[in-house]
Amino acid sequence: MVNVGILGATGMVGQRFIELLTDHPDFEITSLTASQRSAGKKYEDAATWYLDSGMPDSVKDIEVVDTDPSQVGDVDIVFSALPTETAAIVEPKFAKKYIVASNASAMRMEDDVPLVIPEVNPEYLDLVDIQKKNRGWDGFIVTNPNCSTIALTITLKPIYDQFDIKRVYVSTMQAVSGAGYNGVPSMAIVDNLVPFIGGEEEKMETETLHLLGELEEGNVTPASFGVSASCHRVSVVDGHTEAVFIEMEDQCDLDDIHKAMADFRGLPQKLNLNSAPEKPIIIRSEDNRPQPRMDRNADGGMGVTVGRLRKDVAFENSFRYVLVGHNTIRGAAGASILNAELINEIM
Ligand code: NAP
Repeated sequence: MVNVGILGATGMVGQRFIELLTDHPDFEITSLTASQRSAGKKYEDAATWYLDSGMPDSVKDIEVVDTDPSQVGDVDIVFSALPTETAAIVEPKFAKKYIVASNASAMRMEDDVPLVIPEVNPEYLDLVDIQKKNRGWDGFIVTNPNCSTIALTITLKPIYDQFDIKRVYVSTMQAVSGAGYNGVPSMAIVDNLVPFIGGEEEKMETETLHLLGELEEGNVTPASFGVSASCHRVSVVDGHTEAVFIEMEDQCDLDDIHKAMADFRGLPQKLNLNSAPEKPIIIRSEDNRPQPRMDRNADGGMGVTVGRLRKDVAFENSFRYVLVGHNTIRGAAGASILNAELINEIM
């Protein structure tokens, strides 16, 4: 078993890490960290648990420690669910010694830090050697993208591999859990929609192209089609919905787009990694799907559900679809765990 720690273990993503790592066949939780507000308390006293599954007995008595490399003991991998500003300072300190699998955006766009979705661009893990050499670290940092970017990019990948994309417009309807435990006040979101999420549109526009880019001689050249995102917070607890419009350079058939998505499989499926969904993209044919409440838990929350796939009637060579992805599983904790499973298998 590989001993693992969770940084920011009391928050929304930290709790998902605990849920997904409890009973994991290869990883065992041995250390939990949080802020100084929580350090020194038993986990069950420090965390306000919000997941339906209930707090696992195995973590209740673990003492939460300060988020400092000297405090986590004998671990090989740390999963980071820290706020970005804390991650920027703390993750490099951990990477001197440990593998850091991070959700935070702090290090995602650094030239020598792999930003990875295992089904999309596992080859970016080659940047690890460059990172260790550049920085003189024994460990390293690998990151996963922003929660709405992950779901979008998984659906674009098989299309991009087979056809030329001209531009993508995406309009999101994002769950409140995406803003963290203390994120959106109930008075702001109940019976309401907030048409702005700070930094989210920029992340979707840059990370998507970076993930679909090419790694050559240690440098990533981003994909060059246009991505325009409009991001909105809605009154849903878990599960991001995205309405996607995609324009192709050339004529192509709806059936071919459908087939490309339905047949898509990546390295995690080939390697049969523990957290890999059987199908990264699940296509629904009903007019009223996908919906967050019904589809966010598809394949343990790791499958992205696509529906309403259709030709656009107003514009040539264009298609539209709606997707739902679980923001704290496929979009966060599950994504980091899949990255760590891939690293554990191939590196
Ligand atoms: P959250 O619910 O606010 O949890 C934050 C965690 O970090 C808590 O455990 C908190 O501990 C700890 N923390 C806060 N300040 C700290 C400090 N100064 N030093 C050490 N620990 C500190 O946030 P979240 O939604 O889980 O998000 C965590 C990270 O994942 C963020 O970078 C976020 O952008 C990213 N992310 C989130 C989602 C999502 O859907 N929620 C998706 C993708 C990525 P205390 O309990 O002690 O305060």
